[in-house]
Amino acid sequence: MTLQGKTAVVTGSNSGIGLGVAEELAKAGAEVLLNSFTDTDEDRALADRISSDHSVRCRYIAADMADPDQCRGLIEQAGEVDILVNNAGIQHVAPVDEFPREKWDAIIAIMLSSAFHTTAAVLPGMRERGWGRVVNIASAHGLTASPYKAAYVAAKHGLVGLTKTVALETAEEPITANAICPGYVLTPLVEKQIPATMEKYGMDREQVIREVMLARQPSKQFASVEQIGGTAVFLCSAAADQITGTTLSVDGGWTAL
Ligand code: NAD
Repeated sequence: MTLQGKTAVVTGSNSGIGLGVAEELAKAGAEVLLNSFTDTDEDRALADRISSDHSVRCRYIAADMADPDQCRGLIEQAGEVDILVNNAGIQHVAPVDEFPREKWDAIIAIMLSSAFHTTAAVLPGMRERGWGRVVNIASAHGLTASPYKAAYVAAKHGLVGLTKTVALETAEEPITANAICPGYVLTPLVEKQIPATMEKYGMDREQVIREVMLARQPSKQFASVEQIGGTAVFLCSAAADQITGTTLSVDGGWTAL
């Protein structure tokens, strides 16, 4: 499968799922633009590493996805964008009545409004060039809820709704919009939580993974960033030309429960 000649922007891609998706797109031959809100030598070194590992052009563009102007500015700086992956995300956990207002605003801005702004900015160019893929990284929490994650669940459900609307508005064009809904994915962020949870519950690593983290994931296995990236590459392939406005769960059976 080749995505040679295509350019992909992946928001929030200097770690975790975004980086995994960027790597798989690069492996498939796409030129990739990495993004996060930081602007460091490490960020640029990451782009150089992907470039040399996969023999593709890879650049890093700093832009804060909490800021609508920077969301649209990212697309402007990127130039011709064929594949847009909205991935940037954060989390905060608290009961609704104690949920800090600024955390609510930040989560909705970074995980929902940013996808609106980047999508609005890429669609005219996709239409002009006659091909486009919008891939939104939602979550099992875009389809089901959990307590204490009001903003996250609301943002991810909203992202699934935005995906469907964009798909309908582009349905007669060679543009698709879909959402990938991962269950628990073993990212560095998740890996870091394991020792603290082991200590908190007096459990070993395996118990924490099976009984705490993967309590709702029937496969009892994490999804990998490569699997999420592979799903994104599939959605960019010709086999997925008629897949639009839907969600693809990569959740080990979570949403079958
Ligand atoms: P992560 O923390 O490793 O990655 C988040 C990325 O978003 C980072 O690159 C970070 O720099 C970037 N980011 C955060 N705020 C930003 C901002 N204001 N502007 C630009 N970039 C910003 O976490 P992850 O687990 O890789 O999560 C990536 C996406 O996948 C998120 O949308 C998350 O909700 C979703 N997701 C994760 C899991 C999981 O189990 N890890 C499951 C389902 C969905």
